[in-house]
Amino acid sequence: MKIAVLPGDGIGTEIVAEAIKVLQVLDLTFELETALVGGAAYEAHGHPLPDATLKLAKAADAILFGAVGDWKFDKLERNLRPEQAILGLRKNLGLFANFRPAICYEQLVDASSLKPELIAGLDILIIRELTGDIYFGQPRGRRVATDGHFPGAEEAFDTMRYSRPEIERIAHVAFQAARKRSKRVTSVDKANVLETFQFWKDVVTEVGKAYPDVELDHMYVDNAAMQLVKAPKKFDVVVTGNMFGDILSDEAAMLTGSIGMLPSASLNASNQGLYEPSHGSAPDIAGKGIANPLATILSAAMMLRFSLNQPQAADRIESAVKDVLASGLRTADIYSDGTTRVGTREMGDAVVAAITKKTTKG
Ligand code: NAD
Repeated sequence: MKIAVLPGDGIGTEIVAEAIKVLQVLDLTFELETALVGGAAYEAHGHPLPDATLKLAKAADAILFGAVGDWKFDKLERNLRPEQAILGLRKNLGLFANFRPAICYEQLVDASSLKPELIAGLDILIIRELTGDIYFGQPRGRRVATDGHFPGAEEAFDTMRYSRPEIERIAHVAFQAARKRSKRVTSVDKANVLETFQFWKDVVTEVGKAYPDVELDHMYVDNAAMQLVKAPKKFDVVVTGNMFGDILSDEAAMLTGSIGMLPSASLNASNQGLYEPSHGSAPDIAGKGIANPLATILSAAMMLRFSLNQPQAADRIESAVKDVLASGLRTADIYSDGTTRVGTREMGDAVVAAITKKTTKG
């Protein structure tokens, strides 16, 4: 099992170190190779995704990624900014399916800004298409308008587009994921206004006929944004395009209170995947040893389940995380009165100890 380890910037190095520690107590054999990515790679090699890093990522079964970015790089040309490394990896590896679970752990129910009864037991999965839509559609650019409301004025434009195969493959991913859960898919679109999303809705409906055991419903994105805060537990699997998924998955993430708890996976057609926490590089707390490593540790669990075919090892990590939360340990982002505040390393150590304890008992 070959894993490319790309810690990146900011808290990336701190949280990935904890995930590696956890992987190393599982009695499995991994080939781990680390490389620079993001701002760290730009500073060392002049590019956020150097060839050597891309080569390593392509050759691996899975990539464990920390986070990239720092405000000090904001003035760089767009193609040299740290965040371009993620886009480059997605594009080069064909990572088209992004999985973002939003799970509310019983012990963290009070961390949410929503009422406990709305989110207790929440377990939803947002599946976002990652390589198409308005983020990549051509043409795009700036020009002088020749029509519209202000002919002769400077304007900018992007192109929203989806092809049938792009929609079909993400729809299959969603229906198959739903089969392993409560067998419900909500496809989110804006079919009332956008041609692209009427097509999306039509194609998802067609694909859904091959999955008669899975219930499919459709929801406009504006309503989905409202329902996520009004009655989030109504959802099971949500599938949507790149832009709507970007926004809704962050909204879903915050339902649970802390972005420091949420893992993510981006997969290609051969189940090769990039696994990373849903949050960024948190430059405001980098180097302080207080970042929550659990999102990265849970991303490593997703990696074991989806790309490395080790579901039992994934279960062990997830169950250890629950045990640690039950024991009252909290990093600063999820701390509340009556719990014990710990740093990044202590949290990683506690997960390792919980795994080892169960192994010894078992
Ligand atoms: P962020 O997710 O890095 O931080 C938002 C807030 O959440 C901050 O207050 C931060 O301290 C806190 N936070 C994030 N992760 C945490 C953790 N594990 N434990 C405790 N607290 C945590 O988002 P931002 O501040 O908007 O962006 C910072 C940088 O990260 C930017 O350069 C941005 O471009 C980049 N970014 C990268 C990714 C990625 O690598 N996938 C994703 C989002 C943002």
